Amino acid sequence: MRRVVVKVGTHVLSDQNRLCEERILNLVEFLVALMKSHEVILVSSGAVAAGYSILKLDKKMLHNRQAIAAVGQPQLMAIYNKKLEKFGKSGAQLLLTADDFDSRKRCFHAKCTIDTLLDNGILPIINENDATATEELVFGDNDQLSSRVAYYFGADMLILLSDIDGYYDKDPHKHADASMRKIVNTIDPTELEMEKSTNFAFATGGIVTKLKAADFLLERNKSMFIASGFDLTDVKSYMLEGIHKGGTLFT
Ligand code: ADP
Repeated sequence: MRRVVVKVGTHVLSDQNRLCEERILNLVEFLVALMKSHEVILVSSGAVAAGYSILKLDKKMLHNRQAIAAVGQPQLMAIYNKKLEKFGKSGAQLLLTADDFDSRKRCFHAKCTIDTLLDNGILPIINENDATATEELVFGDNDQLSSRVAYYFGADMLILLSDIDGYYDKDPHKHADASMRKIVNTIDPTELEMEKSTNFAFATGGIVTKLKAADFLLERNKSMFIASGFDLTDVKSYMLEGIHKGGTLFT
């Protein structure tokens, strides 16, 4: 069975500082359908959004965000498990840091855990361990983590469910004439440098971390698919029916 990693960002999971349960239910419904034909690992952000309704600290300070995430992580897991239960499934929590992938021993143990969970029909739900690692909280993404998860845990593909429905030739929120690139085979090094050049219209914001994830996977002969996490039509067509209507495939 093919193994895939699905990563969902905070924007998709939350709305005005609160978790959006309806979207989580739609996501879980898709994941359960995907689990029929694939081994599925989920990488989920959202701990800060989940914790903020309980612990309203100033989010500008990093250690406050870490504390809010610590409060929110079990809340997030409870919501996932409540939704999974509707389909007779359960989720398991794994909190990892980028350093875990540098240690062959830790990486091996984590992969054995994942393999055992998948063999038993459990959905592994991974997040960064925000109490010790700060990459997600500082750079606001699990894109790097999910690319490592995909590669080191033996997946063929990473699916990023984002607030954007694909990779465009320029930022679609700033340029009405931007057009989506459906298939991308190579990433030019200049595309990965965009963050540094502030007045460059092409690929700003969160897209660069996604391109870095794609670059990491392409170099290792793995693929990545970016599609909307708000409207799951494109990812469902591609993953469940094999029809590439929308979304960008890096392959
Ligand atoms: P996530 O929903 O995964 O947190 P981000 O908001 O971090 O995603 O990143 C996606 C954003 O990147 C889009 O909303 C878009 O405004 C911006 N962006 C910049 N350049 C591009 C581009 N070339 N193609 C797609 N999105 C882009």
